[in-house]
Amino acid sequence: MSSFHRDSWVEVDLDCIYNNVQSMKSFLPDGVSIIAVVKANAYGHGDAQVAKTALDAGATYLAVAFIDEALSLRQQGIKAPILVLGASRVKDINIALQENITLTVFRKDWLVEAIQQLNGKNPLKIHLKLDTGMGRLGFTSMREVDEVLQLVDETSSFELEGVYTHFATADELDTTYFEQQYTTLTDMIGFIKEKTSIRMIHCGNSATALRFPDKVFNAVRLGIAMYGLTPSNEMIHLLPFELQEAFSLQSKLVHVKKLAVGQSVSYGATYTAEEEEWIGTVPIGYADGWLRKLHGAHVLVDGKRVPIVGRICMDQLMIRLPHELPIGTRVTLIGAQKDEKISSNDIARLLDTINYEIPCMISYRVPRIFRRNKSIMEVRNYLLDN
Ligand SMILES: *Cc1c(COP(=O)(O)O)cnc(C)c1O
Repeated sequence: MSSFHRDSWVEVDLDCIYNNVQSMKSFLPDGVSIIAVVKANAYGHGDAQVAKTALDAGATYLAVAFIDEALSLRQQGIKAPILVLGASRVKDINIALQENITLTVFRKDWLVEAIQQLNGKNPLKIHLKLDTGMGRLGFTSMREVDEVLQLVDETSSFELEGVYTHFATADELDTTYFEQQYTTLTDMIGFIKEKTSIRMIHCGNSATALRFPDKVFNAVRLGIAMYGLTPSNEMIHLLPFELQEAFSLQSKLVHVKKLAVGQSVSYGATYTAEEEEWIGTVPIGYADGWLRKLHGAHVLVDGKRVPIVGRICMDQLMIRLPHELPIGTRVTLIGAQKDEKISSNDIARLLDTINYEIPCMISYRVPRIFRRNKSIMEVRNYLLDN
């Protein structure tokens, strides 16, 4: 087991991940499978640990953004099928083939080039991506899709396993655009089904799965809700079951001192004590992803909300304590203490962004502790591991 030598860490409660996947599984109609989306190091949580937990809980497929993320999972012993959601370079397809990684195809010219490059005996597994209105990746022309289906049919280089699309507004209360995309999708799927049979058809991210469980075809790509976060603020009151937030960010007081009236704290001396007060130093800063913009935020100490004072430094920040507290006292930046809780949603609101960004922005400098069945299962220190 890895270890670390600093007083700041992320705790990932894998029981929450497990429960969220199970809740989703029992919520969805029978026959709908779960693709656990573990891109970006599982939204900053830890790729292999989340992947294993999701598979234990009933997910049958994994998804990442690019090939290197899939290879990271393979190197950590994950054997389950993995879909790369983003664009892959043709020159990298043989490594995908060798490692049994499924690629997304959204251009005919890519496929033509790929036929020339492939050198394995087995076919490369592919999913076709349809652009029904997201405007990111995907086929928009049915003529091109038709040509692609013919091409796939004529060679033995590919196994066409799936077809999918992505919605742009599934998390918004107004469903007009969603309905338009859905109509385009059903037309395109109808066309494809006339030409060939497809094992997997998927269109649902978390928001779609939670709101339109009967419209997801036979698989969902479950991301944010698996981590226990709501896809959007608009959806907070629409959740069909409770989500359990897996990510918390912890630290400890490493220094405590009494400030006299007129003494200041941190760069720029922007904060000055107006009365005698206790100040604690916390060893986490913007290089850990706790952005300088968070100077107005609060943290939890001794079950109470206390303010960050003065500018946040690269590796440290200061907080105003209600009274003297011992060195080593737990400081919670995201998570719960007694009756108080700071969610990634709260931090997102302060930064005027979405909750997705919050666990993603906590950098590799912060070690991850994984809990399963309430006890520590694994420690990962990205600075020392690999
Ligand atoms: C990231 C991603 C998802 C997961 O979306 P969530 O909103 O986190 O559930 C699904 N599909 C694609 C194509 C993605 O890029």
